[in-house]
Amino acid sequence: QPVTTDMRTLKNQVEKFARKKKIEIETLKVRENYRKEFLGNISHELKTPLFTIQGYIDTLLDGAHKDKVIRKKYLQRAQKGVERLTYIINDMDMITRLEVGDMSLDKKEFDIVALIKQVFDQFEMKAGKKNITLALDMNYDSPIMVRADQERIQQVIANLIVNSIKYGRNNGTTEIAIEDLVNNKVIVRVTDNGEGIDKEFVPRLFERFFRVDRTGSRKEGGSGLGLAIVKHIIDAHRESIYVDSELGIGSEFSFTLEKASSRLEDIEVVEE
Ligand code: ADP
Repeated sequence: QPVTTDMRTLKNQVEKFARKKKIEIETLKVRENYRKEFLGNISHELKTPLFTIQGYIDTLLDGAHKDKVIRKKYLQRAQKGVERLTYIINDMDMITRLEVGDMSLDKKEFDIVALIKQVFDQFEMKAGKKNITLALDMNYDSPIMVRADQERIQQVIANLIVNSIKYGRNNGTTEIAIEDLVNNKVIVRVTDNGEGIDKEFVPRLFERFFRVDRTGSRKEGGSGLGLAIVKHIIDAHRESIYVDSELGIGSEFSFTLEKASSRLEDIEVVEE
């Protein structure tokens, strides 16, 4: 009798162990696939600018360097390619650090209106090339204080504005509005009247390397990582991000932030 019980226990233990190992192996497989896919994407994204640079250098060496005008033009194009490579590598570096959870937030209180104006200044030239107006939806006369990692939020706003310019129409507008929400939150809305996004692609927008139209977006020279970075930063803040877009009409990306001094310990008690 005891022998059979022992055998049964042993069998149960072995089965349990096997199940556990199976789960571990599945997890490793998922991770391995993820890693392979990531590396595949990386080499693919890096090849395009590399081939471009190589093309111009080869042509120069083949004799094009003799013509002063062509020489300058090709060198400038090669330089653009190098800039693009740097840009992609920076984005990849950022996403890798974000994905391994290596992001400590440096939260402090700052004025979100001032930050938006700063980002507007940063991209005024880029917007000007397509005659796109960057505007706040009303005059925010007084500061709106929020509590977040200022540098990361600056990156979020920058990525959203850059996209609104890249996928915006000539003579269009990018408008930012800040609204109060309940629960001591604000919502920041970035709205453009650009090309918009087909409903079927909206759920995939925040995937890394995802692009709606690979050829069209490629022309715009992105890395396909901008929105993935945005999502990581917002998630790390435990805030939310929403997309509302209509093909041919425009897009609105909005995210929430914690208002400053919404935590009790921050509120100064004035004793009478
Ligand atoms: P990319 O480097 O390609 O711009 P993102 O992650 O920033 O990468 O965006 C992913 C894709 O989402 C873009 O390629 C584009 O197709 C689409 N997209 C992002 N923002 C907008 C926008 N404001 N209007 C239209 N499409 C957009």
